[in-house]
Amino acid sequence: MTRFDAMHFATRAIHVGQEPDPTTGATVPPIYATSTYTQSSPGEHKGYDYSRTRNPSRVMLEDALCSLEGGAACACFSSGCAGTTALLATLKPGEKVLAYADVYGGTFRLMKRVFETFGVVPVFTEDTSPAAFAKLIDGQTRLVWLESPTNPLLRVLDIAAISKVAHDAGARVCVDNTFATPVLQLPISLGADYVLHSTTKYIGGHSDVVGGAIVMRDKSLQERIAFLQNSLGGVPGPFDCFLQQRGLKTLALRMERHCANALKLAEHFRNHKKLSRVLYPFLESHPDHAVAKRQMCGGGGMVTIVLKEGWEATKRFCSSLRVFSLAESLGGVESLCCHPASMTHGSIPKEIREGRGITDGLVRLSVGIEHADDLIADVEQALAKA
Ligand SMILES: *Cc1c(COP(=O)(O)O)cnc(C)c1O
Repeated sequence: MTRFDAMHFATRAIHVGQEPDPTTGATVPPIYATSTYTQSSPGEHKGYDYSRTRNPSRVMLEDALCSLEGGAACACFSSGCAGTTALLATLKPGEKVLAYADVYGGTFRLMKRVFETFGVVPVFTEDTSPAAFAKLIDGQTRLVWLESPTNPLLRVLDIAAISKVAHDAGARVCVDNTFATPVLQLPISLGADYVLHSTTKYIGGHSDVVGGAIVMRDKSLQERIAFLQNSLGGVPGPFDCFLQQRGLKTLALRMERHCANALKLAEHFRNHKKLSRVLYPFLESHPDHAVAKRQMCGGGGMVTIVLKEGWEATKRFCSSLRVFSLAESLGGVESLCCHPASMTHGSIPKEIREGRGITDGLVRLSVGIEHADDLIADVEQALAKA
């Protein structure tokens, strides 16, 4: 409990876990670059004995993320994938994890190519409806894994409805909240048991650090995750925790601009003659618009566009951008452009990829916080060359 608990998101993002340093008064707490802690006599210490297990820089970040997601506990990791690893390691051989087929590529790879070899059974649905999830859940399903909005099609899944279906069958629910961030969507308040983050994206916010986190609905989930965090050992260093915490302080402000810019861009290009589709959850034409409006308080910073012409035109478009950088990842202050078919989703066979709508003309834009007019002009001139 802190005196900030009842305050607004933007205030908690700046103050929770950031009490002035008690020994020096330093307003910004120091970075605890230490692997070990001196004990006064054997076993007598101040709650810290070794930094894989616990480090003050990490604890500060965990406290802040826990508050912002409205959870009871948080564990930070060296990457989003390290967090996913810990969550999947809660499953035993024979138990199932059910996920939407279009999950983040690294999550899919961990489920299919790592945990399946240990006997965990991944099950995927191509249908985002709660009924489709209900149909696939059985007595062996321990975990339901949701991402919303999804990548790169920005489908929005009904977290409350799917959580209910999962809980009725005795399964737990994890929501990967990387794309929405707790500014736009609070999965725990909608019924999720775990929230996963790649803090590499919006939370770090400046494309300069890799990290991950799991926030838990209640304390009963904490012991196992803390055990796995320490046992698997994929923990973030103190400098990385500092960078993520600094990012967190401007998260609310940045998300406002990401959303405003993305909406402007989506509206500007929605009827463009060179595009067959513009996907953005807060456009009325989006297939999941109603759920998005109910579940999120902003459409997010990602916009997906589909060029009518194929690969050659799309390649010209991607190479002609001057403000957007052609790069993987997302969520930083700078705008990025990604061509999933050749970059992030290149390892999925073409028929499967295209069956899911990830065609050669599809381009995912991570809309940054530059001036909207410069971003629109950049996309406009690159489309003229496509
Ligand atoms: C990037 C990402 C991850 C993986 O996180 P890393 O920090 O790269 O390990 C997981 N989920 C989503 C939605 C992501 O975008």
